[in-house]
Amino acid sequence: MSIVLKNVTYTYMPGTPFEKVALKGINLEISQGEFVGIIGHTGSGKSTLVQHLNGLLKPTAGEVTVEGVSLQGKDAAAKNIRRKVGMVFQYPEHQLFEETVFEDIAFGPRNLGCPEDVVTDRVKRAMEFVKLDFELFSKRSPFHLSGGQMRRVAIAGVIALEPEYLVLDEPSAGLDPRGREEIFSQILQLYQSAGITVILVSHNMEDIARMANRLIVMHQGSVRLDGEPLFIFQNYADVLTECGVAMPQVTRLLTKLKQKGLAVANRAATPEQ
Ligand code: ADP
Repeated sequence: MSIVLKNVTYTYMPGTPFEKVALKGINLEISQGEFVGIIGHTGSGKSTLVQHLNGLLKPTAGEVTVEGVSLQGKDAAAKNIRRKVGMVFQYPEHQLFEETVFEDIAFGPRNLGCPEDVVTDRVKRAMEFVKLDFELFSKRSPFHLSGGQMRRVAIAGVIALEPEYLVLDEPSAGLDPRGREEIFSQILQLYQSAGITVILVSHNMEDIARMANRLIVMHQGSVRLDGEPLFIFQNYADVLTECGVAMPQVTRLLTKLKQKGLAVANRAATPEQ
């Protein structure tokens, strides 16, 4: 069960003076159960890459398959498989449009043709996941909520589609530290308790380092590094700094990752009571 990119190249506005090759021959496999963090300079191709994961952008060359089905196809199988990959864009609250929180989250499942009792059930579960109290919030206008709450409504709308993979492009952009913390603890919970595969784009290395079990570093449209975060921090600090992570941050994160590794190892070594 995985998303596979084979030799994916993507060019914006080909054949015009504005032509820009944003992805260059990307080969990747993202398996179910992973928490993948993607980092890289602005313009390195992160957003373009993740928009290929659910067929929103189609490769100029190469192929993307989800569980063996090509996203290129226009058939029902391809459409179905695209639904398995939920996408939370940057500033997703800009896409809220219904009059109430309930209606906004219900939009996706209704579109899938779910009967109304299933829709209500999915809305309730999605709201529970993003920690918005159903009684308190479902009838309110999404436009009268705080920035963090609006973003949670938007994320709930994607969760209500019950994706197997969840792609988030800078989900904490523009939030205050508390809002960021809330969003990330919910993402972590989705990963840990709902078993959703997470692909997270963030410029914030700290967030990625503490959550992801795989790190992909993009550089000028290519995958420059791909591996376990601690391994990358231990062995490729020089490449990380080339790709925009400041050296003091690399050192600080390395210490944190080692502590995290030690804590995990200690827990594993402690016999069950
Ligand atoms: P990142 O997410 O890492 O900041 P992007 O995937 O947004 O990078 O961009 C990769 C490259 O593609 C950049 O050079 C950017 O200017 C260009 N690009 C992105 N979106 C468009 C677009 N809609 N039209 C033309 N060029 C674009």
